[in-house]
Amino acid sequence: MPSLYEVRHDEPCSPHGYTVPREGKDAPTVVYKRVVEDFGATNPLSQSCVPYAQLVHDRLSIEILRGCARGCRFCQAGMTYRPVRERSADQIVSSVIQGLEKTGYDEVSLTSLSTTDHSCIRDVLDRLNRRLEDTGIRVSIPSQRLDSFGVDMAESVAGEKKGGLTFAPEAGSQRMRDIINKNVTEEDLDRAAKAASRPAGTA
Ligand code: SF4
Repeated sequence: MPSLYEVRHDEPCSPHGYTVPREGKDAPTVVYKRVVEDFGATNPLSQSCVPYAQLVHDRLSIEILRGCARGCRFCQAGMTYRPVRERSADQIVSSVIQGLEKTGYDEVSLTSLSTTDHSCIRDVLDRLNRRLEDTGIRVSIPSQRLDSFGVDMAESVAGEKKGGLTFAPEAGSQRMRDIINKNVTEEDLDRAAKAASRPAGTA
């Protein structure tokens, strides 16, 4: 709680001062963050209301992975949400099916900081596409890394309904991408754009 601490400026350790517990307050000097170690033990399906007005994120969202091991220099979320923890493919597939049945959504998003880095993402997409075949339900994934996006993935996320794909190269030159530790090359960009625009079944 911020009210238990005060900022001191009486020593030159930082131009912004440093934070110490207020006198008389029983607060630890160092605050450690807490993490859910077993991510799979948490319920991926929160009890949420299904809106009757169309919203921006008008779809079911299932968080399949927490954390990101990439280490881009500018990324606060990548640092804050460490370590990387995944849900199993079985848990993802069953919660997607259950969530769609409960809500009636016609789209599901597999969310995380870097969804295409899930170790079983291809298996998950294949299984979902088989289960959702002929239902008109679309599987989408948020902003994708260019270096882990392949032709098979492009087909898997396209499904029956075509939608948008978002890539995040973050910088326009190789020099800048190297500086910010975004290990993506021009070739990755080219390959991912071609994979995304190729008609289904022509890989
Ligand atoms: S890949 Fe994305 S989430 Fe991961 S560190 Fe880089 S910017 Fe952050």
